[in-house]
Amino acid sequence: MTKQIYDFSEGNMKMRDLLGGKGAGLAEMTNMDLPVPHGFTITTEACHDYQRRQELSEQLLAELDQSLSALSRLTGKQFNGSDHPLLLSVRSGAAISMPGMMDTILNIGLNDQTVIALAELTGNERFAYDSYRRLLAMFGNVVDGIPEDDFDQILTDTKIANNYESDLDLTIDDLKEIVAKFKNLYENYDHGGFPQDPKEQLLAAVNSVFDSWNNHRAQIYRRQNNISEDLGTAVNIQEMVFGNYGEDSGTGVAFTRNPSTGEEGLFGEYLLNAQGEDVVAGIRTPKPVSVLKESMPILYEQLLDIAKKLENHYRDMQDLEFTIENGKMYLLQTRSGKRTPTASVKIAVDQVNEGLLSKKEALLRVEPESVSRMLHPEFEEEDLRQHEILTTGLPASPGAASGQVYFTAQDAKQASDNNKKVVLMRADTSPEDIEGMIVSQAIVTSRGGMTSHAAVVARGMASTGVVGAHELEVDYQKKVAKVKNQLIHEGDWVSVDGTSGNLYLGRIKTTDATIKGELSVLLGWAKEASKMGVYTNADTPKDFQKALDFDADGIGLTRTEHMFFKPERLLQMRRLILAEDAAGRKDPLKKLLQMQQGDFYEIYKLARDKEVTIRLLDPPLHEFLPHDEKEIEVVSKQTQISSEKLKDRIDSLKESNPMLGHRGDRLAVTFPDIYEMQVQAIMNAVVRLHNEGVEVSPHIMIPLTNSKQEMAWVRNLVVKQIDRVSTENDIAVKYTVGTMMEMPRACITADAIAECSDFFSFGTNDLTQLTFGYSRDDIGSFVPAYIKEGILPVDPFQTVDTEGVGELMKIAVVKGRKTKKDLPIGVCGEVGGDPKSIEFFEEIGVTYVSCSPYRVPIARLAAAQAHIRSVVNEPQFEKV
Ligand code: ADP
Ligand code: MG
Ligand code: MG
Repeated sequence: MTKQIYDFSEGNMKMRDLLGGKGAGLAEMTNMDLPVPHGFTITTEACHDYQRRQELSEQLLAELDQSLSALSRLTGKQFNGSDHPLLLSVRSGAAISMPGMMDTILNIGLNDQTVIALAELTGNERFAYDSYRRLLAMFGNVVDGIPEDDFDQILTDTKIANNYESDLDLTIDDLKEIVAKFKNLYENYDHGGFPQDPKEQLLAAVNSVFDSWNNHRAQIYRRQNNISEDLGTAVNIQEMVFGNYGEDSGTGVAFTRNPSTGEEGLFGEYLLNAQGEDVVAGIRTPKPVSVLKESMPILYEQLLDIAKKLENHYRDMQDLEFTIENGKMYLLQTRSGKRTPTASVKIAVDQVNEGLLSKKEALLRVEPESVSRMLHPEFEEEDLRQHEILTTGLPASPGAASGQVYFTAQDAKQASDNNKKVVLMRADTSPEDIEGMIVSQAIVTSRGGMTSHAAVVARGMASTGVVGAHELEVDYQKKVAKVKNQLIHEGDWVSVDGTSGNLYLGRIKTTDATIKGELSVLLGWAKEASKMGVYTNADTPKDFQKALDFDADGIGLTRTEHMFFKPERLLQMRRLILAEDAAGRKDPLKKLLQMQQGDFYEIYKLARDKEVTIRLLDPPLHEFLPHDEKEIEVVSKQTQISSEKLKDRIDSLKESNPMLGHRGDRLAVTFPDIYEMQVQAIMNAVVRLHNEGVEVSPHIMIPLTNSKQEMAWVRNLVVKQIDRVSTENDIAVKYTVGTMMEMPRACITADAIAECSDFFSFGTNDLTQLTFGYSRDDIGSFVPAYIKEGILPVDPFQTVDTEGVGELMKIAVVKGRKTKKDLPIGVCGEVGGDPKSIEFFEEIGVTYVSCSPYRVPIARLAAAQAHIRSVVNEPQFEKV
C-alpha cells in the first residue's frame, strides 16, 4: 500500500481527496510560510483501510512512529517527555467540509506526570491543569462515550459552589479537583480509567476519529448534503498551541469578508484565554475581531495580512481558525467560507473588480438556485422570530405574503374586491379557480405536488405558493381549516413562506427584493457568457413585464387559454362550447376575438422587438364548463339554455382521460373556427400595430402535434388566415408556425414534422407524462415513494429525465435539424427553469429555454454556467 501519512510540508491544496479539506489547507498554508503548528495527516485511504479491517494496520502504526519521531525532532519536544512534553491535537477532516460533524481531541499527551512537567516548564500551573481537564473531557466523550453533560455538570457545580461568573475564575486548586473528579467519571463508566500512556491516547483518538465518520449525526449530514459515503475522513495530528495560556493568548474564527452581506473586511470573533471550541460553544461571549484592532494592534494587522494573502491565494472568501499563544499568532484552518446568496453574488462581483477572478470564474461561483432567494419578498427576520410555524408544505412558489384566508375562488375574489389581502386556501385548485388565484397574495393547498395546478399557476404568476401541506384539513362546508388542533376560520390572517414551505398564523412584515447592484451586474455577464437564450412563459402583460424586468429575451410560451378565465370571457367561452353548430358559435367567437386581440396587442406592444410565441388553445373544452348544480343554474340563466340541456351537453363532453382526449390541435380539426378566431385575433393586433408604425412578426405554436400530416393540416389552416388578413390589409407579415414537441411520436418522427414546422418547442410536462405514463396531476400518491426507495432519482417533472425523456429530445433535435439545419428549438416546460436540466439542454443543442418570470435570472445564470463548462474545463472549486 502507498504511504499513508503526509507531513504538512508534503501536501498541498489540490490533495483534498487524499488529505481531506483541513489537511490540504494546513499543508497549503505551511507551504505559504504562514505560521501553522507542525503536524502531519493520515490519509483518507488509510481510513478506508481501517473501515475494512476495523483496526489500524501495521504499516500505519510504523509510519505513525516515524512521523512522531520527526515531529519530536522538529519541535524539540518529546511525546511523554518529562522536560518538554509534546502535546497533540487529533483532528478529523473529510474532503468536503462537514463542520462539527466529526470529532477532534486536543491536548493529547497529558497525564499525571506530563501535566506536572508542563506546569514546571511554563511556570503556569493553572494553564497546565486547565489543559488536562479539557483533555479528560474530550477524550472521555469521544473515545469512551461518557456524556458531555456529565463533565459539564462537574464544572458548573464547582462554579456555583464558589459563586464564580466564568470558567476564568477557576483556581489552580479547583482545576486539580476537577481533574480528579473527571478521572473518577471514567471509573463510574467502567472503562478501566483514563489511559496514562500518551501513545495509547493517540491511537485511541485516531481510531475514534475514523469511527466518527460513521457516527449518526455525520451520516444524517451527508444524506442531507448529498455527500458520498465513500469519501472517508483524514486525521490530522498537530502540535498544540495554547490559547488558554493567559491573557495574552486566545482563540478565534474569522471570515475574510462578511459572510452575510459580502462586504469587504475581516469579520469574526475571538475569546481571550480560551481553547478550541470555546468560541462557538458559548462558554463566554466572544468579542468581534475588530476589538483586536485596539487591544492587540500588531496581531490584528498580522491577521489582516494573512487573511488577504489567503484570499488572494485561494481566490475565494476564506473561513479561518486562529489561536494566539502568548502574543504569537497561529493559523489552524482555512476553507472556503459558507455564505448567503447575497454575499455570494457580491463577493463574486467584487473579486472580479479587484482583478482576483475572471468573469467566467465569478459566474461559476454562484449557485443558480440561490439567486431565487434574492428575488422575492421575504419576511422580516425580526418579526418572523415572533411567530411559530403552524405547519409546512412543499415550497411550490417562493416569496412571502400575509393575507386573510378564503376557501373558494369566488370568496377570495369578492374579498379582494373589497380591498382585502387574500390567501386562497384549498385542498387543491383547478383552472376555474384562476381568478381567485390571481387576486391572492398566496395560494395554499393541502394536496398536490410541485407540478400540481396550484404550484404551476402560482409560479407562473409569481405569487407565493405552498402546496401539499398534508396536515391541513380544509372543510369547505364550514369554511374552516384544521391543523392539528388549531382552527383557521375564513378571514383569519395567515402568513405563507413559499421559499421554506412554512405557514404561520397572523401577519408578518415583509421586505421586497428586486434585481439591483451586484446581481444585475452578474446577470449581465451571464447573458454575454451564454449560448442559449432565456425566454419566459407569460400569459398576461403583467407576467411579461416582470420577466422583462428580469431581462428575459422574449416570450417562449403564451398560453391563450388562461385569457379565457375572466368572468366575461368565460361566459362567451361557455356559449361557444355549448353552441350546437357553427352558426351558434359565430357570436361568441366574435366577442372572444375582440378580447383576445386586445390582449395580444398589449403583449406585442410591451415586447417591442422581442419575440413572442403564442400557443393556440390547448386544454380540453370541458375545463371551461360549470361543474356543480349551483354554477349550472347561474350559467343556465346567463346563456338562456335550460339546465337539463346544459347537463346533457356537459355529460357529452365528459371524457375518461381528458389529458389524452379531445384537446390541443385535435380541437382545431373538429372546431376549426376556434383556431381561426385566435389567428385572426393575433393578426388584428399585428395590423393595428403596423398602422401605429410597429412591425411585429407573429410566432404561432401548435400544441400536441403527433405527425407531419396533422401539422400540415393545422399549419394550412393557420397560414390561410394569416394570408387572408395580410391581403385584406395589404401588408407583408413575416411569421413562423411551429409545433410543441410533447408527444413521443412527434419526437420520433421529428424529421418529417420539421418539413412543415418553422420551430420546435419541447413541452416537457406532457412529454414526461406520456413517456413515463405518469399522470402529472396524480403523481403525488406514488412518486415520493419512488424517490424514497431510490427507484427514481428525482421527480422527473422537476429535473429532466435524461435517460428516457432526454433521449427522445435528443432524437427530435437530431432529426429535426437533419431536415432544417438551423431549426430553432426551445424548451418551455417546467424543467426549462431547472439548472440541472439546463445543463443537459446545452449539451443537446437546445436554442433557448422558457420559464416562469421569476426563474428567468436563475435560468440565465444556469445557461451561462452550462456554456462555460461545455467550452473549457474550468477548475472545480470547493462547494460552499
Ligand atoms: P472542526 O472540524 O469541528 O472545526 P477542528 O479540528 O478544527 O474541528 O478543531 C476544533 C478547534 O480545536 C480548532 O478550531 C482549534 O481552536 C482547536 N485546535 C485544533 N488543533 C489545535 C492545535 N494544534 N492547537 C490549538 N488548538 C487547536
Ligand atoms: Mg475547525
Ligand atoms: Mg402540453
